[in-house]
Parts: sequence; structure tokens; C-alpha cells
Amino acid sequence: MMKTALTIAGSDSGGGAGIQADLKTFQELGVFGTSAITALTAQNTVGVQGVFPASTEALEAQITSVLDDIGADSVKTGMLFDSERIEITASFAEKGRLPALVVDPVMVSTTGAELLKEEARSTMTEKLFPHASLITPNIPEAEMITGMSGSSLQIRKEMARELLKYGSEAVLLKGGHEPDAATITDILFDGAEFHYLSVEKIETKHTHGTGCTYAAAVAAFLAQSKSMKDAVFAAKQFIHQAILHAHSVGEGAGPVHHAA
Ligand code: PLP
Repeated sequence: MMKTALTIAGSDSGGGAGIQADLKTFQELGVFGTSAITALTAQNTVGVQGVFPASTEALEAQITSVLDDIGADSVKTGMLFDSERIEITASFAEKGRLPALVVDPVMVSTTGAELLKEEARSTMTEKLFPHASLITPNIPEAEMITGMSGSSLQIRKEMARELLKYGSEAVLLKGGHEPDAATITDILFDGAEFHYLSVEKIETKHTHGTGCTYAAAVAAFLAQSKSMKDAVFAAKQFIHQAILHAHSVGEGAGPVHHAA
């Protein structure tokens, strides 16, 4: 039987990030994808022109409909918008209904739009992180959560340790936002071992949807019962190819190519 993955995230009308990126990624990786939309964004490659949250009733009803019938072998969260929507999501996790949960702690889009209200950051770290199998912060998100900064490997490892204290089973600290690096290194830490995923940096402005796609790929591989380490390494290959073959559509940052 085909494995299933649920994404709880925002819609990107531009098709590059959010729910759209997640569903395309699930499809490409052979997993049946379902969705619960937290907010609609009016968005293109240039920026986010509007954010329209789904009602809390709508969010709860979508998750319930999917889980009561189809179920989920893994779950990924993206843009959660505010504390109320995080609390609804966390209430399903508390009941054990969100297995293999990958939390992408989306806060601000690359173009600067607020995708999570500032007041909701602590709700996310305190109420959702403890239920996660994996959290996938990039460097700016990790800095905001931990209050730490610095780019040495030692500091990155300490950051990963600090992030794990919020209670997830593992942390994937993504290095893609390192400004001057020729090599990008992501760090996977599960409390016991550090794993390093290094690739040569791809010089392109077309990276829209990178974070969503990477986390969705991990969720897809977890749904297929890969170990966390294997799922993250396979997802890293997928996202690297996706950036290499990104689309130059629109005037701004084009979307990554969601294809295996
Ligand atoms: N829009 C939505 C709905 C998202 O979930 C995200 C990221 O998670 C973005 C936009 C931002 O994408 P990017 O920063 O890659 O442009």
C-alpha cells in the first residue's frame, strides 16, 4: 500500500513553497500527500502580497478529516501563522496522531514577509518541538530561537545541542544561509551523534521553497520507513538537485524543481 504524508502549512499561490512544494515533493517521492492549510498567501517570485489565515475551525476540521480516514505515516508542518494554529496542531500531536513529525520552524520568508507572528515563536518551541521527530531550522531561525550566533563549526554544534533541549528527537541545522561559504554544511544531531551533510554551494537566486521542499522530502522518506539519518541524507540529495534545476519563472527568486 502507498504510504501517506500530511502537510500542515500555508498555501503559496506562486507554487514554489508551502503546501504546493510539499505536495509536489510527496508525489515525486512516491508518497500519497494530503494537506491542511493554515493560511493562504497571495505570493509570487517577487514577494508575499497578502496573508489570509484559515479559520481555526477550518484548520482543525481539515486535520481531523484527513486523519480520521486516510491517516498519515508522517507529518510535516510549515507556516503555522500564530499561537492558536500551533496549539491546534500540537493538540493532535499530544494525542499521538502526528507520527514522524517534521517541524520546519518557518518564521519569515526570504523576501521578508512574516509567516509566523513573533509572539508565537515560544508557543512553537514549547508546545510543538517536544512532539517532533525532527526540527529543521536554518541559521537565522536557529539564531532567533537560541539567541546564539557565530559561524564556527563548534558554535553550530552547540546551537544544535541547545535546539535539541526543546525536546525533539533530532535537529537538522541547515547551513544554506551562510553568506560567504563555498561549502554548505548541514548538521544532523540526535543527542548521540553528529552527522554532517556538506555540498558545494550552488550560486543561484532561484531557491524559493528550499526549506519547505527539504523538510517535505524528509517526511516522505520517513513515511517510507527510512531511518532518520537515511531520510535526511536522501532528502539532502533531493533538495540539492532541486536547486540545481530551479526554474527561472517570474521576475524574482524562482522556485526549486520538485522532481526526483
Ligand atoms: N510561503 C509559504 C507559505 C511558506 O511556507 C514559506 C516557507 O516555508 C515561504 C513562503 C518562504 O519560502 P522562501 O523563503 O523559500 O521564499
